[in-house]
Amino acid sequence: MTASLDQTPSTIDRIRHDLVGLKMPRALEALDHLVRRLEQGEITALEAIDTLLAEELTLRENSRIKTALRMGRLATIKTLTGFDFSFQPSLDRDRIFTLAQLGFIERCEVVHFLGPPGTGKSHLATALGVEAVKAGKSVYFSTLAELIAALGRAEREGRLQEKIRFFCRPSLLVVDEIGYLPVGAGGGNLFFQLVNARYERGAMILTSNRGFAEWGDVFGDPVIATALLDRLLHHAVVVQIEGSSYRLRPHAELMPEHVRSKAIIAPPLQAQPRRRGRPPRLDPFATAS
Ligand code: ADP
Ligand code: MG
Repeated sequence: MTASLDQTPSTIDRIRHDLVGLKMPRALEALDHLVRRLEQGEITALEAIDTLLAEELTLRENSRIKTALRMGRLATIKTLTGFDFSFQPSLDRDRIFTLAQLGFIERCEVVHFLGPPGTGKSHLATALGVEAVKAGKSVYFSTLAELIAALGRAEREGRLQEKIRFFCRPSLLVVDEIGYLPVGAGGGNLFFQLVNARYERGAMILTSNRGFAEWGDVFGDPVIATALLDRLLHHAVVVQIEGSSYRLRPHAELMPEHVRSKAIIAPPLQAQPRRRGRPPRLDPFATAS
C-alpha cells in the first residue's frame, strides 16, 4: 500500500464519521458488531441497516419520552400495567384501557377520577399521562394547589394571561388533588379562568376526593364552583372509585371498618345537612357528553 492510499478513509471510517456528524451515537456504538455479523453472513445488508436505524430511533424515542415526562412533571412512573385492577373491583378495567387509547384527548374531554384517598386516582391519572407522552402528546401534571399558586404569582407579577397560555399549551393537563386543601374564592376564580381558556380546546384529567356537590366548599364560592362544573362536566367522563386504600392494605385489619371501605362520594353527602348557599347537587356518577 502506498502512503497516499493509507490516508484515504475506509468506507467504515467514513460511516463512523458520518454517524458522528449526524449525531447518531447509538448507531455508532452498534456499527462494529453489526459489520462483524454481516461479514460472517449472519445478517443481510438490509437487516444491518434496519437494526442500525432502529437502535438509534429507540434511543431518541426514549430520551424524548424521558424529557417530556420531566417537563410535564410526570416524574414518578406509574403505569397501567403496574395497576392491580383486582384490588379495585369497582373500577371498570376496559373503561380505563379505552381511556388509554387517548380518544378523549383528541375530543378535548375532561376525565374525572373521584374516590377516597389511596384508591389509585393519582396513579391512574399519571399512567394515562405517561401513555399520552408515549403517543407524542404534550402533557403537564400539577396539583390544584400548585396550579393556583403559580397563577396567583403570575397575577401579582402582571403576567396572568401569559401563565394561562402556558397551561393551555399541553394537549393534556392533569390537575391532581382537588379537595384536599380548601381554595379561597380568589384561587377558584384563577382556576376558573384557566378552565374557561382550555374549555373545548384541550383535554384535562382531574382527581378529587370530594363529590361535585362539595365543590362550593372546596372553592370557597358556590357561584364559581357551579361555573367550573358547568364547563368541567360538559364533554366529561366520570370515573368513580369506591374501594379501600391501597396504601393501607398491609394494615387493613387494623383499620376501623368505616375507614377500611369508605363509600366516599355519595353517602356522606346525603348524611350532611344542606347548607345555605351550596351549589345544586350534581350526580357524581353522571357521564356527561
Ligand atoms: P390517590 O391519588 O387515590 O390518593 P394513589 O394513586 O396515590 O391514590 O395511590 C396510592 C399508592 O398506592 C400509590 O403508590 C399507587 O401507585 C398505589 N396504588 C393505588 N392503587 C393501586 C392499585 N390498584 N394497584 C397498584 N398500585 C396501586
Ligand atoms: Mg392522589
